[in-house]
Amino acid sequence: MTKKEPTKVLRSKTNKQVVGGGYHRPVCPKCNCELHSHENGVGVVDMAKFGPYEIWNADLWKCPKCGIEVVGGFGKGPITRHFEDNFERIKSGYKHLITNNG
Ligand SMILES: [Zn+2]
Repeated sequence: MTKKEPTKVLRSKTNKQVVGGGYHRPVCPKCNCELHSHENGVGVVDMAKFGPYEIWNADLWKCPKCGIEVVGGFGKGPITRHFEDNFERIKSGYKHLITNNG
């Protein structure tokens, strides 16, 4: 007999806190429904005046009705900063990088 997983539980391949453990999914105020996790582990590059500053790991959420997209579920703290040796390697390792101009 297989035990069915509750549909509200999401599992993440990354080490950040997403949903579960007290976190709520984002809600679309226009459609009155919960957004779905569309892509786990997108990179968000926070930009400074001089260029890329920090990279954060996050998730891309999408409303199943209107299709609006939101980036949320950020990890606790950036995974790298511009002065760290691994910065370019981590940056190039993301297949989906989203620039954040503040
Ligand atoms: Zn919507």
